[in-house]
Amino acid sequence: MLTKRGEGLTRRDFMKIAGGAVAMFGLPQAFAPKLARALEKAAAGRPKVVWLHFASDTGCTESFIKTDTPSTADLVLDILSVDYHESIMAAAGKQADEVLAKAVAGKDYICVVEGGIPTVPGHGMIGGREMLDIAKEVCGNAKAVVAIGSCAVDGGVPAAAPNPSRILGVGEALRMQGKVINLPCCPVNPEWLVGTVVYVLTMGKAPPLDDKGRPTMFYGRKIHDNCPRRTHFDGGRFVEPFGSKEEAMGYCLYKVGCKGPEAWSECPKTRWNSKESWCIEIGGLCIGCAENKWSDNFAPFYGKLANVALPYGDLTADKIGVGIAIATGAAIAGHAVGKAVRGEKKKEGNA
Ligand code: SF4
Ligand code: SF4
Repeated sequence: MLTKRGEGLTRRDFMKIAGGAVAMFGLPQAFAPKLARALEKAAAGRPKVVWLHFASDTGCTESFIKTDTPSTADLVLDILSVDYHESIMAAAGKQADEVLAKAVAGKDYICVVEGGIPTVPGHGMIGGREMLDIAKEVCGNAKAVVAIGSCAVDGGVPAAAPNPSRILGVGEALRMQGKVINLPCCPVNPEWLVGTVVYVLTMGKAPPLDDKGRPTMFYGRKIHDNCPRRTHFDGGRFVEPFGSKEEAMGYCLYKVGCKGPEAWSECPKTRWNSKESWCIEIGGLCIGCAENKWSDNFAPFYGKLANVALPYGDLTADKIGVGIAIATGAAIAGHAVGKAVRGEKKKEGNA
């Protein structure tokens, strides 16, 4: 049994990874040993990963190198062979081109794409080649293509209006819609990337996807339906504005711009930064960064979503309280009048 980093993971390590993965996949824990064996077998062949990097701010790489389920070191040294990744590889320039050519020659690799693809000639070049041409060649020959982060999925922030470089996501730029596994968010949640790669390696196929090419296990539920502030939404208790006592009390952020009612992702469950927290828990609102063209469609970020039905119309908790008090007062008054009338009738009857 090997134990040292870089010389192999132990059976226990694989069991730990598999335990986390089955929870992510929504499988019973009893499936973990089988998954661990499948992963160990797949890792023995050190599946190749080619990581392309186009128009983005490298946030998804930053996110990926902070994963801990398993750690990036375990992934890169013991499970995968990340043959080409411009940000973490030692080679540069011509040498890097040679590494890429060698990595894709066998056509036996998973391609991860970070960043949108400029489609106006001359607007996105690497080593004198159009990003679009590199993407066509590398993605076209890959066993599986995973677009990570909103930039790779639909262009993201670099494709925000007016988008002079006509930046597109991988599926649209390469006309590969339906063949790309899309993992939007800005940046990608590293656990969703690892979970997707583990799924492909162990099951030999892509996980079930929704109509936008997103794995349903990570994008199948609305933020709003899993939000710890939801009882405040349902009770008409809102933060307005920031800095108010309502904010200090952790009320719902809908009226200050939360896009949770229209955002589909498992952020409340997966969380971020080694499960430390997530946007709404730390007091920020959800800006819907896993949704299509979010930076255009959800701007202004602090603007209230239209067409969201509120349980009490547009009333705040205070007004609901006043309404209840009036209604209760009216009921008490009605009860008192009824009692008085009944009393009068009783007197008449006794006379
Ligand atoms: S609107 Fe936002 S803060 Fe309020 S319950 Fe929905 S997701 Fe949570
Ligand atoms: S909570 Fe909303 S804004 Fe935050 S990462 Fe998730 S989808 Fe993006």
